[in-house]
Amino acid sequence: MILLDRVTVIYPNKTVALSGASLHIQPKEFVTIVGASGAGKSTLIRLLIKEEDPTSGKIIVGSIDYDTIDKANIPHLRRKIGVVFQDFKLLPNLTVYENVAFALEVSGVKSSDIKRAVPKILQLVGLSEKAHHYPTEISGGEKQRTAIARALVRNPKILIADEPTGNLDPKNSWDIIELLLKINRFGTTVVLTTHNKDIVNALKKRVITISRGRVVKDEKVGKYSI
Ligand code: ADP
Repeated sequence: MILLDRVTVIYPNKTVALSGASLHIQPKEFVTIVGASGAGKSTLIRLLIKEEDPTSGKIIVGSIDYDTIDKANIPHLRRKIGVVFQDFKLLPNLTVYENVAFALEVSGVKSSDIKRAVPKILQLVGLSEKAHHYPTEISGGEKQRTAIARALVRNPKILIADEPTGNLDPKNSWDIIELLLKINRFGTTVVLTTHNKDIVNALKKRVITISRGRVVKDEKVGKYSI
């Protein structure tokens, strides 16, 4: 469960990035967040992964109240939430396998568990054949699959995909959306942000529209309308 209650973010330069935004996302939902550039989507994502704190308002994810979480629990929170970005953020000197394994190594997972988990997740995202390729040796769609595998291997309850198809052609974009739908069917909550009108309209899923820091529309089967 993700709950934002009247969340406002005002940056030090007085820019109001979010203004009393409220939303409620249930476990296992697939939700798309749309909004023009500057609407506040990235700010919202930074709040969810606690890279930023709101100026006012309440945020609760799962059973964690962001007001009372202590610093030691932030890594635990971040493990519950996987994030993928438009520009993939892969480590260039590591192979596909190593990029995914690295996410577990930094969490202190035992190497025997890593050896079990990584091939499974690479199979799920369709990358078993490319396990030993470096990022420069794979396509954009494969890079995004690697990033998704890296996010998923820690078994997050929530996967945030921030413009995951922004750098991909239509065919690869659809493949990534199909993968996100599959992950959602397996029980992970998916929060997608995108500017791709065709994708939003074809998904026929919940769409939350943000404009100037406010939730201006929240529809069960939404359309892209910004
Ligand atoms: P989106 O992701 O929808 O494009 P953002 O959340 O990035 O929107 O930005 C919302 C507003 O906050 C914009 O006006 C943007 O210029 C401003 N903003 C974002 N980050 C900062 C920051 N670190 N300092 C000041 N203003 C910011």
